[in-house]
Amino acid sequence: MTYDYLIVGAGLFGAVFAHEAHKKGHKVLVIEKRSHIAGNAYTQNMEGIEVHQYGAHIFHTSNRKVWDYVQQFASFNRFTNSPLARYQDELYHLPFNMNTFHELWGIITPKEAMDIIQKQIAGAKITTPTNLEEQAISLVGTEIYEKLIKGYTEKQWGCEATKLPSFIIRRLPIRYTYNNNYFNDDFQGIPVNGYTKLVKNMLEGIEVRLETDFFANKEEYCNQANQIIYTGRIDQYYDHCFGPLAYRSLSFEHQLLAMDNYQGNAVINYTDASVPYTRIIEHKHFVSDSTHVVASGKTIITKEYPSPWQPGCEPYYPINDATNTALYEQYAALASKEPKVFFCGRLGTYRYLDMHVVIEQSLQLAAQLL
Ligand SMILES: Cc1cc2nc3c(=O)[nH]c(=O)nc-3n(C[C@H](O)[C@H](O)[C@H](O)COP(=O)(O)OP(=O)(O)OC[C@H]3O[C@@H](n4cnc5c(N)ncnc54)[C@H](O)[C@@H]3O)c2cc1C
Repeated sequence: MTYDYLIVGAGLFGAVFAHEAHKKGHKVLVIEKRSHIAGNAYTQNMEGIEVHQYGAHIFHTSNRKVWDYVQQFASFNRFTNSPLARYQDELYHLPFNMNTFHELWGIITPKEAMDIIQKQIAGAKITTPTNLEEQAISLVGTEIYEKLIKGYTEKQWGCEATKLPSFIIRRLPIRYTYNNNYFNDDFQGIPVNGYTKLVKNMLEGIEVRLETDFFANKEEYCNQANQIIYTGRIDQYYDHCFGPLAYRSLSFEHQLLAMDNYQGNAVINYTDASVPYTRIIEHKHFVSDSTHVVASGKTIITKEYPSPWQPGCEPYYPINDATNTALYEQYAALASKEPKVFFCGRLGTYRYLDMHVVIEQSLQLAAQLL
């Protein structure tokens, strides 16, 4: 065996594990089929701006251990995610909070907001929600649903909300305070020099081969390593023998604009069904403090378009409905019998995972194996 560990995928799961294994003196090889490291958290410096190539990535966690862990690889700024929602020509603060309710109804106090929402919920007369629309209305009432949830969700899933299962929206956080911080976590920020630099620091001293697909030489790679940390798609590992797992995909349209400031905020969601994209992000706002914008005469924005997934497209969001969950269980049963392969990360476990969760899981596996 040439390597103690072969790590398939240079995303956060793979990079954290590789770092820990290397630190303990193990011989590690990382292979990555894309031309870059950092997986979906990849950022690329374009025109002096760190561009989140696969959509907005905001690091947030309440796990002190994970927060302390990432600090050794990058300096984080104090970015606080406070997205806005645009519905036609109206603009609302997110997440749903007293600012949103003031903008919607002109009300001032929490009691006034609660009364309106409760009245709408009661008026809808939904006892047991049978689909996403009913579920959302029973949580936030009709007006927030119509303006801020319906169009966005239908674009995201490519399907009418009445045809989507209610479980997609288990809870919709409503805050009766004037607080636009999207996350409830204790720690939040963006690495000042981008996620790619952070992952590069994790991988320092480790052999990394880019544009190298595991499946181009699966057997050879398996023979070269004692253990394999596999962060690719679990169904692909088994040649889709039970059928492919379903995903939603996305496409990103990046634009360089000759102006200092396009939208005044990092993230604006477009909740109106008539606009084809779900959000526009303006990258410079992830790193500039919100009181002033770097006057460089240029800015980069990205429009995010949800799209159906088909072979060849990037699989972004797993569709964890009953059919796909059952299918995944079949693959997971095969995976559990593998003597030396560990299926990890968002693709290996067929789950949407935030970055801090991926890091926590990778550290747990490292503690178990190393
Ligand atoms: C649009 C979007 C926005 C997000 N925003 C946030 C956010 O704000 N905050 C947050 O915490 N999380 C966010 N996430 C989640 C975040 O991207 C994931 O938590 C993280 O990327 C998962 O890391 P990973 O290592 O499991 O997977 P990945 O980052 O996908 O890394 C896996 C790597 O394996 C490689 N690979 C796959 N198959 C093979 C193969 N056969 N051979 C070689 N290499 C292979 C892939 O190319 C990829 O680079 C977001 C995700 C999306 C899609």
